[in-house]
Parts: sequence; structure tokens; C-alpha cells
Amino acid sequence: MADCIFCRIARGEIPSEIVHQDDELVAFRDVNPQAPTHILIIPKEHIESTLALSEAHDRLVGRVHRLAADLARKEGIAERGFRLVLNTNREAGQSVFHLHFHLLGGRPMHWPPG
Ligand code: AMP
Repeated sequence: MADCIFCRIARGEIPSEIVHQDDELVAFRDVNPQAPTHILIIPKEHIESTLALSEAHDRLVGRVHRLAADLARKEGIAERGFRLVLNTNREAGQSVFHLHFHLLGGRPMHWPPG
């Protein structure tokens, strides 16, 4: 999508600290980190939110989880623990309407989340 900020990051039109990219996924550091490790994992395909996922995306979503585990190991937070957060729509705090998973770790997390 031409004016989507995360599509533009995926295309390299907006600078970001990319930590992984392949033919389907891009991972980059959040510009406003909420934990020592705060990485966003996005599909290159523009998918607005969880609500727009179809069966055709099942493999892609599985890959996101395996990439999150790999990145957590690389960041040194796998054993301590980390969170993979997916905000959907406004009450959950979704502000960018291109599907993205927050990989957060490096500090103790609280429950319930705010
Ligand atoms: P959400 O509120 O779940 O939609 O998350 C959007 C996230 O994108 C926020 O944590 C923002 O800090 C982050 N964000 C917005 N613009 C950028 C950008 N240009 N580069 C990196 N992260 C961004």
C-alpha cells in the first residue's frame, strides 16, 4: 500500500534498524521501545490486522512465531522470557494498520497487561 508506513519500511523507503528480512517477513527495532528489546515483525504483504487473516496466511503466521523465537535467542532474552504482542483495533492500542507483532523482552513483564 503506497502510504502505509510499514509497507514503506518494508520497501526501504523509510529508514529503520532492520534486524531480519526475507521474502515474506521484515523485523526492525521499534522507534519508541517499551523494553530493552522491542522488535516489530511484519509481513511484507499489507494485511490490516488479525481480522484480515485468511487460511492462506496460516503458514506465514507460524513463521512469525519461529522468527520471534530465533530473534529472542539472538537478543539473549529467550531463556529469561519474552512477549509476542499483537494489538488488534483501537481499544487494544493498534495505531498502525499493517499487521505487526511486538517482540518485547529484557525486563520483567507484568500481568495483566495495561
Ligand atoms: P501498535 O500501537 O501496536 O499499532 O504499534 C505500532 C508501533 O509502531 C509502535 O510501537 C510505534 O512506536 C512503532 N512505530 C511507528 N512508526 C515507526 C517507525 N517509523 N519505525 C519503527 N517503529 C515505528
